[in-house]
Amino acid sequence: MANRRNFLKTTAIASVAVALNGFRGKTEGNEVILPSGKVKKPIVLSTWNFGIPANAAAWDVLKNNGRALDAVEAGVKIPEGDPNERSVGYGGRPDRDGRVTLDACIMDEFSNIGSVACLEYIKHPISVARAVMEKTPHVMLVGDGALQFALNQGFKKENLLVEASEKEWKEWLKTSQYHPKANIENHDTIGMIALDVHGNLSGACTTSGLAYKMHGRVGDSPIIGAGLYVDNEIGAATATGHGEEVIRITGCHLVVELMRQGRSPQKACEEAVARIVKLTKIRNKNLKDIQVGFIALNKKGEHGAYCVQGGFNYAKYDETGNKLIDADYFLKS
Ligand code: ASP
Repeated sequence: MANRRNFLKTTAIASVAVALNGFRGKTEGNEVILPSGKVKKPIVLSTWNFGIPANAAAWDVLKNNGRALDAVEAGVKIPEGDPNERSVGYGGRPDRDGRVTLDACIMDEFSNIGSVACLEYIKHPISVARAVMEKTPHVMLVGDGALQFALNQGFKKENLLVEASEKEWKEWLKTSQYHPKANIENHDTIGMIALDVHGNLSGACTTSGLAYKMHGRVGDSPIIGAGLYVDNEIGAATATGHGEEVIRITGCHLVVELMRQGRSPQKACEEAVARIVKLTKIRNKNLKDIQVGFIALNKKGEHGAYCVQGGFNYAKYDETGNKLIDADYFLKS
C-alpha cells in the first residue's frame, strides 16, 4: 500500500514534470511561448537548410556546456568549408568580375564584435572576423587589409572559385543581367544565433553575398546591427536576403530593440519585415523582387522568424532535436 502510495506520488510528480517539460504554451507564428521563468537552453537557430549540419556542429559545443560563441563559429564553418554550398565561403558564387569576395561578422555576450568584408582567398572568413574581434583594436577590416591580416594570422590563401561556380559565371557573362532572385537560387547567407547552458547569447553571420554583385559591394551580413545583432540582456537576431534592404532599416538591431520594448521574437521579426514593406512602397519598388528573412531568439530561449515572401526556412536545434522550419511570411498573394 505504502509502495503504491509512493508510486502514485512519484508518478504524480513525474507527470507534473512531464507536463511542464512538455508544455508548449501558446504558439505565435513559428514561435513557442514558454511559461514565464522557464528558460529553454541550450538552443541554436540558423538560416536555410544548410543550418541543419551547421546546427549539429554548434550543438556538439553547446551540449558539452561550451560557449555560444564557440558554437556559432564551429557551426557556420560547416557551410563555409563546403564547396557544394554555393553562397557561403569556399564554393561561393563570384562577383561580376569572377572574384569570390566574402563577408562575415561575429558578436559575443560581452558585445565584443569582429567583422570582415570583401575578403578574398580565405575559406573561413568567420574565423578571421573572430580574430579581428580578439586580436585587433578594431572591429572591421575590409578587402586587401583583411586579407593581409588573415595571412599574418596564419590563414591559408586558397582559390575559392570552384569549377561549377566559374562555369555558371561564364554563362552569366553572356547576358550580364543582374537580377538577384528572391530565394535560394543565387544568394544565401548562414546566420546563426545561440543561447548556451550558461544563459549567454552569441551570433555569427557569413556569406559570399549576392552573386554577380559589383566588385566591392558589401551587403548586410558583415555589418553589426544589420545582418547580426546580439544583446546579452535581451536577445539576438540575424538576417538573410537582399542586404541593401536589411541595411536600410538596420534590421537586426531593430529586431533586438523591439524585443527590448517587450515584443516577442516572432512579433519583432514581423515588425522589422513590416518596416521593409513600408519603405518599399514609399520608394515605389516592387515587393515581389525583394526577399528578407529574420530569425530571432530571446534570453528565455523563445524564438521567432518571419520573411517578406515564402520560401525561407531555418533550422532549430534544442532538446527536442534538429528541425527545419518554414518561416511564415508577409506576401501571401
Ligand atoms: N544578405 C546577403 C547579402 O546581401 C545575401 C543573402 O543572404 O542571400 O549579401
